[in-house]
Amino acid sequence: MSQEIPYKIYLDEKDIPASWYNMRADMKNKPAPLLNPGTGRPMTAQELSGVFCEELVKQELNETDAYIEIPGDIRDFYKMYRPSPLVRAYCLEKKLDTPAKIYYKFEGNNTSGSHKLNSAIAQAYYAKQQGLKGVTTETGAGQWGTALSMACAYFDLDCKVFMVKVSYEQKPFRREVMRTYGASVTPSPSETTEVGRKILAAHPGTTGSLGCAISEAVEVATHNEGYRYVLGSVLNQVLLHQSVIGLEAKAAFDKIGVKPDMIIGCAGGGSNLGGLIAPFMGEKLRGEADYRIIAVEPASCPSFTRGTYAYDFCDTGMICPLAKMYTLGSDFIPAPNHAGGLRFHGMSSTLSQLYHDGYMEATTARQTDVFEAAEYFARVEGILPAPESSHAIRVAIDEAKKCKETGEEKTILFGLTGTGYFDLVAYEKYNNGEMDDYIPTDEELAASIAKLPKIN
Ligand SMILES: *Cc1c(COP(=O)(O)O)cnc(C)c1O
Repeated sequence: MSQEIPYKIYLDEKDIPASWYNMRADMKNKPAPLLNPGTGRPMTAQELSGVFCEELVKQELNETDAYIEIPGDIRDFYKMYRPSPLVRAYCLEKKLDTPAKIYYKFEGNNTSGSHKLNSAIAQAYYAKQQGLKGVTTETGAGQWGTALSMACAYFDLDCKVFMVKVSYEQKPFRREVMRTYGASVTPSPSETTEVGRKILAAHPGTTGSLGCAISEAVEVATHNEGYRYVLGSVLNQVLLHQSVIGLEAKAAFDKIGVKPDMIIGCAGGGSNLGGLIAPFMGEKLRGEADYRIIAVEPASCPSFTRGTYAYDFCDTGMICPLAKMYTLGSDFIPAPNHAGGLRFHGMSSTLSQLYHDGYMEATTARQTDVFEAAEYFARVEGILPAPESSHAIRVAIDEAKKCKETGEEKTILFGLTGTGYFDLVAYEKYNNGEMDDYIPTDEELAASIAKLPKIN
């Protein structure tokens, strides 16, 4: 095959962005502020700094600076695995016999196996700058915990991870990678925290959820001198750090003179999607260009498509600030599906506002359809994708098939957020024909949504 555009569009090390891009600066309707659950008033920087690192609190609250400089130490770490490649999926296009042009931005090229390292290294850096001893966090599928343990090892910080019990049991190798990087890993809910004991008493035998694990990690951070809590998704600061994905993708497209028509990403808490779309959304917000942007969520945890836009707790224990977001209710514990990274009950408040204002669309994919797309992609493009990423693959393939019907030569970009080497239990279930498609009923969702805090 001889094509003008290469399979991989590489950038140089010097093209790693010098600044992150903050979409909120260009939003007319800013995302709603975090509220203090006690007073119902917006959280102040001082209140937030009891839980989060100071510099990260500033980033969380910053809705005016469009660009925030990336410190040299973080850029140096990025150089070990960035820029990540933008790949033209020629083989996939050929197999689908579609006139669509498909590109993906691949973030699985580091040991953590996902995009999460982009924010982990930034958060560990600011914790170190502040002179902290360590950080606590939750992890669902394990990618965030792995990324954070790598980042903490690099800056010599202690790292305490609460891992959702179902993943802890399904993914012993993930746990061992974290321990290899020096982190301690506790299955959640656990007996080691007050909130964990409460949740266990209320839901005996629960397989856990991100919401429970967050409550435990926050409790440990706020009860131990020299510790703060860090979160791998949902927050504004995380979307900010993840903007490196979109900034690099945009630079690579500019290099070949191409503009995507459609940008597709999976959405758990919204960090990879928020990062991938950042500079494109910036153009859209400023009226300079238009893109179709599609969030893909699991049918088993459909925050955007079946949730309510309201203030809610980010955690099951209801000790975290309230965020206004599309939510299924902090009491909602999704069925133990195989895309652990997409099991959070809420969605980034920035993306929630953008979705509410019509700047993006959302759709769902069923688990078995996702794995069908994952295997198709693995066989055609070679990379074994993470189940989370495969939600985006599913919709990219479906959109490319539509182009075949209509003859349209659309340019599709999707985020390939990570690899699936630690998800082989899920692949095994799929290969054995034992995977099911649990979809919550309207009654189940109504029950957890009825318990939303009465704020609005
Ligand atoms: C965590 C994770 C996601 C989902 O999280 P977002 O914050 O929505 O990006 C997607 N893909 C992979 C590989 C992940 O590890």
